[in-house]
Amino acid sequence: MSDIMTIRGLTKDYGTIRAVDSIDFSIPEGICFGLLGPNGAGKTTTIEMMEGILTPTAGQITFRGKELDTRFRERIGIQFQSTALPEFITVRETLELFSAFYPNPRPMDEVIRLCSLEDILEQDNRKLSGGQRQRMLLGLAIIPKPEMIFLDEPTTGLDPQARRNFWDLIQGIKKEKTTILLTTHYMDEAQILCDQIAIMDHGKVLELDTPQRLLAKHFDGALVRIPREGNSTI
Ligand code: ATP
Repeated sequence: MSDIMTIRGLTKDYGTIRAVDSIDFSIPEGICFGLLGPNGAGKTTTIEMMEGILTPTAGQITFRGKELDTRFRERIGIQFQSTALPEFITVRETLELFSAFYPNPRPMDEVIRLCSLEDILEQDNRKLSGGQRQRMLLGLAIIPKPEMIFLDEPTTGLDPQARRNFWDLIQGIKKEKTTILLTTHYMDEAQILCDQIAIMDHGKVLELDTPQRLLAKHFDGALVRIPREGNSTI
């Protein structure tokens, strides 16, 4: 399995704060790669550099062996948390609007099926619940048929049922051979979805391994139970 994305010596300083401190990892094609860590660990800063939104202070990011630049924009889908959805239009109209930006968008019925949007198609964007909004944002991210998709804490703030529903969607998208980079606070989420996990803290990658090996090492192999409150954070 070849690597789709590689980062080497990636560093970001905000003034005197070193938010990301010379980290290295590679993401093999087709896997779900998890970036875990507590608040302030440096996950968002890392993912934003990988998305090309933030300029690194130092280091290198390559996509299929070539330095990451705007040429790859449509090959990477991003589920932005803060995307302001257009108001007074429906989910269906929003999907159509976004599809029009791309010369070869994913067929609408495929987007609807992969993101379970059937029941909210005629709903106004302003009336979406947290879970429905995440499904919609995921739909927008997969319209350009990206080879890789970035999900930054997609289930934070969702109730346990909505989290589980969202996990099913992520697994469905992975089956379509899309590589996934997921940041999360939740060990149970990473355990269920991820093939490899990098654990970050204070800007550094402390561990990089499969969930099974990390659990065996730190939790004596015990399964991390999914709590009703959905608050199993590391
Ligand atoms: P969270 O899970 O809370 O989103 P995180 O792991 O994503 O946390 P980052 O948001 O990347 O962490 O933050 C890493 C460090 O960089 C923190 O100390 C944070 O305060 C700092 N930081 C992030 N953005 C900025 C900024 N624009 N200016 C200054 N410091 C920043």
